[in-house]
Parts: sequence; C-alpha cells; structure tokens
Amino acid sequence: MTLGNRHKRQVPIREGLFTMPLYPTEQVRLVGSKCHTCGELSLGTVSSCANCTGEDMEEITLSRRGKLWTYTVIRHRPPGNYKGPDPFVPFGLGLVELPEGVRVLSPLTGCDVDNLKIGMDLELVVDKLYEDADGNEVMAFKFKKEIL
Ligand SMILES: [Zn+2]
Repeated sequence: MTLGNRHKRQVPIREGLFTMPLYPTEQVRLVGSKCHTCGELSLGTVSSCANCTGEDMEEITLSRRGKLWTYTVIRHRPPGNYKGPDPFVPFGLGLVELPEGVRVLSPLTGCDVDNLKIGMDLELVVDKLYEDADGNEVMAFKFKKEIL
C-alpha cells in the first residue's frame, strides 16, 4: 500500500457489490440481497429476486470469511478483455460458500493452484484490478487462503 492510493478515486467494478467507502480495503465487505418471499440470497444489490422475481429484497452485509465449495484452475489466458497480470499467471476460480448461505464465484489467491482444497478457509481481499481511462482505481475482489 502506498500513500498515493489514498488520493486516487476508487470505484467498484460493479455497483452495489461492496460496502462503502472502498478505503481502507481491509474494512470493505461484500453486499448481498436476501429475498423475503423465498429466502434466496444473491451477491450484490438487486431489486428483484432471481429465483422468484419477488421485489421484497433486503440488503445484507456478507462475512469476509468463507470456505471453498468447489473450484477449477484457469491455466490459459481468458479470451477478450482480460484485466489480470500480463504475462498470464494461472489462477484458481472457486465458488466460495459464505456463512450467510450464498456461494460467490471468485478468483482465488494466496496459495499455489496445486494446493487448493475443497473446504479450505478463505478470506476476502479487495484490491485494485486496474486503472480506468480517468485514472480511477477499479476495485474488485478475490478470496485468499486464510493463514490461521
Ligand atoms: Zn425470491
């Protein structure tokens, strides 16, 4: 972390995904939406339920810790407008189960892809993914292996 980051504007990669402000990043949490009609949980702020189309939604703050539910390893650079490291570094892509009962698709970090294990403890990391054309830091998230 450098002092310079403090003065750059940080914007979420998707509106309604994070608690605000986005700095310090250690205090940022993911936001979810709970449907009062059927109980379905979704990631981010949504105005209607993906399961039952109900509109009685409550915004909830999600835990920073979860467990790896399943994963795959991305070994080749994804096509299109990939914003990750260049040259490409293989990474795990997992479904992370949070205590609230929602599973979040997320890149995985903090350990070698060969050491990923279903059920391992993971912790949210909010980080700059890239800088946009206006010099804003576009903030995204991943989950890293939790050091216990
Ligand atoms: Zn619903």
